[in-house]
Amino acid sequence: MRHWLYLIGKLAIAAGVIFGLQFTVEHLFPIPPPTRFGPPPVMFLHDLPFTFAIFAVWLTGAGLCSVIIWDHRRRCRTCHRRLIMPIVTGSWGHMVTFGRPKTELICPFGHGTLRIEELQITGRQFPDWEPHDDNIWKELESYEAHR
Ligand SMILES: [Zn+2]
Repeated sequence: MRHWLYLIGKLAIAAGVIFGLQFTVEHLFPIPPPTRFGPPPVMFLHDLPFTFAIFAVWLTGAGLCSVIIWDHRRRCRTCHRRLIMPIVTGSWGHMVTFGRPKTELICPFGHGTLRIEELQITGRQFPDWEPHDDNIWKELESYEAHR
């Protein structure tokens, strides 16, 4: 649950930054004078620099969201630290013998392993998170107790 709240918090901060950027861009450009026939025309899609500036803000927002999601997928589900030590397993040339190619990442504190399939034949396959039990720490403590 905390994992998803962390993502929602990061996306909310990014949304605030993007809305602030759009507000700034909208107020940097001068408002055009009213025409003889009515109120000033809408600047978006009628004023080229303003339109490109708004497109740049939207592109920045899309890039920021994709970076946040990409980063969030490669974080520990328990402690939210970046996963480390990527190991490539399997083989592209010998899938029957060595298995399908995938990348495995682990949490630096041993909370779990993330397996990302490199081969996406049957549609998009989401990364597989496998939490680790604390068996290794229990085993180490039992060795210390026996000494
Ligand atoms: Zn962790």
